[in-house]
Amino acid sequence: LDEARLLQSLTDRFLQQRIYTYVGDILVAVNPFQRLPLYEKPIAEKYRSRAKGSLPPHIFAVADRAYQAMLGRLGMGPQNQCIVISGESGAGKTESTKLLLQHLMNLCRGHSQLEQQILQVNPLLEAFGNAQTVMNDNSSRFGKYVQLRFQQSTVRGAKLSEYLLEKSRVVQQDAGERNFHIFYYMFAGLSAEEKEIYGLLDPARYRYIGGHSGTQAMIECWKHKYREVCNALDMVGFQEQEQVDMQAILAGVLSLGNVSFQPQESNGAVQVGEVSRGWLKAAAGQFGVQEEELLSCLICTVSVTRGEQIQRLHTQQQAEDARDSIAKVAYGRVFGWIVCKINELLAESVDPDVELREIGILDIFGFENFVVNRFEQLCINLANEQLQHFFNHHIFQLEQAAYREEELPWETIAFTNNQPILDLLLAKPLGLLSLLDEQSRFPQATDKTFVDKLNSSFKGNVHFQLVRGRVPSFSILHYAGKVQYSASGFLEKNRDTLPANIRGLFINSITPLLSVLFTATISRTGTLMPHIKAKVPLGAGDNFNNTRKQSVGAQFRHSLSVLMERVYSATPHFVRCVKPNSRKEPGVADSQVLLQQLRYNGLLETIRIRREGFSWRPSFEEFVQKYRILLIKPDADLSKESCLEILQSTELAGWKCGKSRLFFKYWHQEQLARSVEHLEKAA
Ligand code: ADP
Ligand code: MG
Repeated sequence: LDEARLLQSLTDRFLQQRIYTYVGDILVAVNPFQRLPLYEKPIAEKYRSRAKGSLPPHIFAVADRAYQAMLGRLGMGPQNQCIVISGESGAGKTESTKLLLQHLMNLCRGHSQLEQQILQVNPLLEAFGNAQTVMNDNSSRFGKYVQLRFQQSTVRGAKLSEYLLEKSRVVQQDAGERNFHIFYYMFAGLSAEEKEIYGLLDPARYRYIGGHSGTQAMIECWKHKYREVCNALDMVGFQEQEQVDMQAILAGVLSLGNVSFQPQESNGAVQVGEVSRGWLKAAAGQFGVQEEELLSCLICTVSVTRGEQIQRLHTQQQAEDARDSIAKVAYGRVFGWIVCKINELLAESVDPDVELREIGILDIFGFENFVVNRFEQLCINLANEQLQHFFNHHIFQLEQAAYREEELPWETIAFTNNQPILDLLLAKPLGLLSLLDEQSRFPQATDKTFVDKLNSSFKGNVHFQLVRGRVPSFSILHYAGKVQYSASGFLEKNRDTLPANIRGLFINSITPLLSVLFTATISRTGTLMPHIKAKVPLGAGDNFNNTRKQSVGAQFRHSLSVLMERVYSATPHFVRCVKPNSRKEPGVADSQVLLQQLRYNGLLETIRIRREGFSWRPSFEEFVQKYRILLIKPDADLSKESCLEILQSTELAGWKCGKSRLFFKYWHQEQLARSVEHLEKAA
């Protein structure tokens, strides 16, 4: 198997609607961009405790294998499992995740409420976390790791971790893209009376949703989706009042987005025009706060220094930034809260002494390289570097370690070890994220001083390149290629500061949910930690976001390291999703598009090691037990000598003998099976 053959074989299979293919242990899934009859009940039933080779490749087979391995039925003792799904946007990761969950729940077959709930929370997550993009009509704008916890064969609980919700989408979308689905669902699904209650006007008037109204057919679909969301909200156990509050907050976000500012000359403060006043009033009503107080959060910053209040007026740009960050933080908190509620619902309630086994499924953005790459892309690509490292570690390092241990002669296979890139990004105190944090702490630092700092720190580093130009930029040579990042906004995004006083304002909101969202903090483990609710005086120093809060980079680094700890301690299964073309078309395979993806996700290197490596490695005992029939000597002892004797009686070539086990190519196994069959027929 080589690059050309892999491509040919994937393409041929794809055109026959056989979208799944194994490359070694890895499942490659080509997105069909159409519903295929592959997932019906009778098919699902077949993928139950089956040996991998005996049925056509399938995503259900991966679920089955992980489940059997978790239970210890594959001969290695019960172990935690993780399924890592990768691929670029629109390649089919989220659909694969759903199919895996569906089949895993089917495998436990308890028909418990929990199994149903695990599947039913998905519409909720997608409504709030997904959006239409140019790459994918239902693109997940957050990464997720789902951990299913089992007691023997029964699922007992599940936990969801989310990574990096793309909050900036709330306030701005690129051409051809939309805001999060929920906003459109809401307009389509709410009745006229309900819209009036929430103060929602014609959707075309809201700037944050770009004036999109949707065709009649879309509106019908959104209406249906909205019902689904409401059902899921009920099911997850959101109180009536909480649901009302949530809608009000979303409406508040939209109204706030329509507030605009004009510079005023005389006192330097920005002006809010007549029309904007109306939107401001609406937003204040929807948020349950005083209009004047909301206004003051937008147009000035109040800080307290040695007991003295100091007011600093905003420029127009600062006022707009304040407005957008309020919208982003409000939406982000609603999303975080939904995830927490889902976790509360799905948490296992078992005796802590009971040992639970776990199957984790990771669905996280693939490697990104756009025309303009920002802080978000850096974080995403960092996550992908980590996953690639894990993949390398698993496939290559473990493989080599096994040969070394058995003292086999083995030429070290050269593979791209991306540790130096991880060091460049993560090292303390001189990695990129640490330098960013350091700069983020200096009030005078700018994106330019940050890039200067990088240039001086990484001079000569082969994975870093200086970029000259008007906008401060730099390039990183990632495992999958060179990406140029625009540093503009890095410091601010990393700090993610709330406009001063906004927390105090929202804590004192008469909308109970808003108050809770800003009183509680969401812990690193994804649970909501309510603080004792105290009235926070307006204007008091808001140290919530200044001293105690971690930078976005530091939080992400931490959650990644927790994730990596989990995946490194589990048995991995890899699913590589690929797109057959960039136009979301069924039945069309574009070889350039495919090849590019195969390169990015390390499949070509995997093929090489598979070709050069030995996929089946039985111990001497295991081998004799299985094949002594070939010697017609039922009492052959379980030794190396017996193995060699058996092998000499066959015509097998190219196998290797280690200290305690034999090493075979995958085709040897087939040849041996044929010999046994032959013998049995003869007898
Ligand atoms: P990703 O999560 O990788 O960005 P998605 O899983 O959202 O991509 O897939 C994008 C779209 O491709 C889906 O909305 C769906 O229309 C289609 N798709 C993906 N996988 C399948 C599949 N197995 N069967 C049918 N359609 C699929
Ligand atoms: Mg997705």
